[in-house]
Amino acid sequence: MTEKKTLEELEKRISELENEVQKQALQNKDEKYRILFEKSKDAILIIENGKFIDCNKAAMEMLGYNDKNKIFQAHPSELSPDTQPDGKDSFVKAKKMMDYALKNGSNRFEWNHLKSNGDIFPVEVLLTTISHQKNDFVIHTIWRDITKRKSAEKSREKEKEILSTILESTPYGITLIDSQDKYLYVNPYFTQITGYTLKDIPTREDWFKKAYPEESYRNKVCKAWGNDSNNSCLAKNHEFKIKCKNGQSKYIEFRSTFLKDRTISVLTDITQRKKVEEELKESEERLQTILSATPDPIVIYNNVGETKYLNPAFVEVFGWSLDELEGKHIPFVPDDQKPITSKKIKELRDSGIKVQFESKRLTKQGRSIDVIISSSCIKNIDDEISKLVVILKDISDQNQAKKQLKLLNLKLKHEASHDPLTGTLNRRAILNSLEKELIRTKRRNTKLSIGLCDIDFFKKVNDEHGHQVGDDVLCSFVKVIENTLRPYDLLGRYGGEEFLLVMPDSTVSIEKVIYERLRAKTADHKMVTRSGEIGITVSIGITCSKGDDTADGMIAKADAALYRAKKNGRNQLVFAD
Ligand code: GH3
Ligand code: MG
Ligand code: MG
Repeated sequence: MTEKKTLEELEKRISELENEVQKQALQNKDEKYRILFEKSKDAILIIENGKFIDCNKAAMEMLGYNDKNKIFQAHPSELSPDTQPDGKDSFVKAKKMMDYALKNGSNRFEWNHLKSNGDIFPVEVLLTTISHQKNDFVIHTIWRDITKRKSAEKSREKEKEILSTILESTPYGITLIDSQDKYLYVNPYFTQITGYTLKDIPTREDWFKKAYPEESYRNKVCKAWGNDSNNSCLAKNHEFKIKCKNGQSKYIEFRSTFLKDRTISVLTDITQRKKVEEELKESEERLQTILSATPDPIVIYNNVGETKYLNPAFVEVFGWSLDELEGKHIPFVPDDQKPITSKKIKELRDSGIKVQFESKRLTKQGRSIDVIISSSCIKNIDDEISKLVVILKDISDQNQAKKQLKLLNLKLKHEASHDPLTGTLNRRAILNSLEKELIRTKRRNTKLSIGLCDIDFFKKVNDEHGHQVGDDVLCSFVKVIENTLRPYDLLGRYGGEEFLLVMPDSTVSIEKVIYERLRAKTADHKMVTRSGEIGITVSIGITCSKGDDTADGMIAKADAALYRAKKNGRNQLVFAD
């Protein structure tokens, strides 16, 4: 009995201990939950039949209340603004949310709450039904403040909006391809350049086929694409010609950036640039042809006078090559041409237009060349002189020809007025001179005499010695006379072996002396000829005038006097009456 009793007591004790342990365990569980409840950073609230009956510290802090009771007195919707972001009434919506949780066990959604100070803030709400029997229910509520998340979302949205604005308005074509080479996006400018929309080009292959219809060209583009995708960090710019949707060809520059699962390509329309480049190339070629073909030497200097270019004609005429002179000054300005050259360069720099002047330049071998220098400026974008173009026209031959022409003219002029045999004035010139002297004599009221000289028996000289010796005698006679005359006396060949002397400012006494000296000298001096010396005499008919007579009148008088001199035996002077 005692044993049985002891056993019963023992069992009872064990049962009590078990209960104790269970109770303790429950108490521990409660305790643990309480700690979690209080320490949670998320707000935890318990709703019983539509009213808050408990909340943790985080909930009070979140809503800005010190007194729990104030929260407990409010319906959940009262801790919210009147309406939610979707415009729905907070009370109606809160009820709907709770109904959903009661029906489905839980409900997760976003909600705007109201702080005690009136601030609205967003929370993520998790409602979990704890018990629900008819109108009797308990809901466990967790609120997580998502203000930061929301603002991050908002700024992400903003960034997206900015990015999208950039993509939509940028003057670059931009495309986005996924890892399967499917187009995800093409921006409006891409469509503007190519004419293609996202619908036209579902994949990169479609795009390549349309843009590069010619197979070998397409393969070239594919190769460049392949290289770039393998060296994504070394993405390069490529220039290709594409066929647009409307059939037009365009030059584009593209660059692709290969990301892990996306490829972004940027396209620029460079058709206009290419066109300008081609035109520039063409005009440069044209210019090069002109520079090479022109026979005039051309030099191009930079703004400090260093040689940058020499055309073939320069090399040919001056003997230097560009290799010898590039970047240097050309040592071809003679010292005496330095002042004019500096002056003209200054003029050119000041006016910025063009100067032209005649000068001389030296060749490499030191030969002087007459040149016309035409120099003009090339200006840069800032309107500063960047280059000087100098054309040197070789006018040495031209100048030589000019000199010859001048000589020829002088000779012709001389020939027109001089006797070709004796070099003295010819008949026309001596008669002209006589007329001029007569006018001068009249003006000055002085006297003038003329003497008509005729070599005696000249026919005999010709007959005895020949015509050429006769010519020599004529020349020799002229020299003797000219050596005897005063500087202002004039002698001319009147015809054959007759010569006319015109002596301005003469008086009778002086005349007599001079004419007599002439006669005597002729008679005394042997004439030098190719056949030796020959003696001759001369007869002279002389007349004097105060300027009243005409040239013809005087000649007639002198001729009559000469006739008389001949008649009287020759080798003498006869003065007209
Ligand atoms: P007179 O004393 O009367 O003057 O005799 P003359 O022989 O000098 O005269 P005439 O008029 O009979 O002869 C002139 C000669 O002069 C004839 C002609 O042949 C020669 N004569 C004229 N012009 C030239 C010339 O340019 N050269 C040469 N060698 N002879 C000339
Ligand atoms: Mg005669
Ligand atoms: Mg004679």
